[in-house]
Amino acid sequence: MEHKIKDHSNAAARFLKDEERATWHDETLWFVRSKRDKAAQQLPEWESLREMASGIKAHTLSHLDKYLLAFEAKAKANGVHVHWATDAEEHNRIVYSILAKHKAKNVVKSKSMLTEECGLNHHLESQGISVVDTDLGEYIVQLRKEQPSHIVLPAIHLKKEDVSNTFHECLQTEKNNFDPAYLTNSARIVLREKFLEADAAITGVNFAVAETGSIVICTNEGNADLGVHSAPLHIACMGIEKLIPKAKHLGIFLRLLARSATGQPITSYSSHFRRPRKGQEMHIVLVDNGRTQQLGRKDFKDSLKCIRCGACLNTCPVYRRSGGHSYHNSVAGPIGAILAPNLDMRKNADLPFASTLCGSCTNVCPVKINIHEQLWSWRQILMKEWYGSPAKKASMKAMAFVLSRPRMYKLSGKIGRKIMQWLPGLVNNRLNPWHKNREMPQAPRQSFNEWYEKNKR
Ligand code: SF4
Repeated sequence: MEHKIKDHSNAAARFLKDEERATWHDETLWFVRSKRDKAAQQLPEWESLREMASGIKAHTLSHLDKYLLAFEAKAKANGVHVHWATDAEEHNRIVYSILAKHKAKNVVKSKSMLTEECGLNHHLESQGISVVDTDLGEYIVQLRKEQPSHIVLPAIHLKKEDVSNTFHECLQTEKNNFDPAYLTNSARIVLREKFLEADAAITGVNFAVAETGSIVICTNEGNADLGVHSAPLHIACMGIEKLIPKAKHLGIFLRLLARSATGQPITSYSSHFRRPRKGQEMHIVLVDNGRTQQLGRKDFKDSLKCIRCGACLNTCPVYRRSGGHSYHNSVAGPIGAILAPNLDMRKNADLPFASTLCGSCTNVCPVKINIHEQLWSWRQILMKEWYGSPAKKASMKAMAFVLSRPRMYKLSGKIGRKIMQWLPGLVNNRLNPWHKNREMPQAPRQSFNEWYEKNKR
């Protein structure tokens, strides 16, 4: 399928038009980042935990075949049906066929970015199956027919006024009642009914333990537990990178995940599922969808260590000021910008450029992924493969030409300074994207070199 190159910067410009909202978004996420810092600083062993988690993931990824087969064998021995899906289409087909076999018409789903990645809701709805996302943030964006804008905080782009309007329109709540407790309770009443009438529960998976064949799902609302314990059918969908070798490793990841995501010492519910309860059927769908391809890319295989904590999004100055929807991908932010080109280079060629490469993402990542270096590596590949914008390519070539010729560099600096002094309108105009949201600096009278020559002793 031919995809057009999308443009993060244009989408970001639309987001930034509402300055007040953009500032609020920026500050809210920075607040979450600060909570993460405090939580991390309270653990003297924080850096060792990161080292260990990174090492365990590296080891698992380099023996993934072995651990996947061990997990499958254990899960089957526990009475779980295990399925393998090569891509999103096969995943959706498998999930639908299980539901169809059980004549399931009403499904409750707890947060799963994998099912977003595969477009599962759309697929099931087109087959006449009703799917309700039961995480509050996911439920809000589902009612608004939007994608989550953040992997942990799916409705972080919305204010309570937006939620109130959405609920008034879709759930007939009181108009202009912005009280978060009232709004949450209204959603709770509707969702309780959905849980009670559900024929099946679909969940994501945070961790899968090869040693035991069990899965762990972390939520703050307990919605995965409610769904799984009330429905006669449980389908868990997981990317093949979610494996860890042993149950004892969970302690490391659970401590890192909650603190990195929201600054909590532990997620409210860390639920372990090993086998179906009496009278219930349990299925696990193991999904590749490009992951083995990414594993084969030397520079990017470490991106599969990701535990989807969202810390790199919260700290990223570009994500905070451009919003998750600008990334036109189920996973937004720095890690999304690494994962997306693997799935479709052309469609996602803009994303690795949505970064200042400041490295803050790498500094906070609990599994020590070299995120900013991978973004930089994608840029090299995309430009070489001609997926980058032609204007960017031409300007980089011109820049390389000037920078590799010292005399020309000095001369163009001189001309540039004069233009900025005498004809500032030539630089400070709407054609210059840097000028749109910034005051251009006053041009200095001389270059540093000239100043140094005059002042050296
Ligand atoms: S890349 Fe690291 S910081 Fe970003 S979501 Fe994944 S684990 Fe968290």
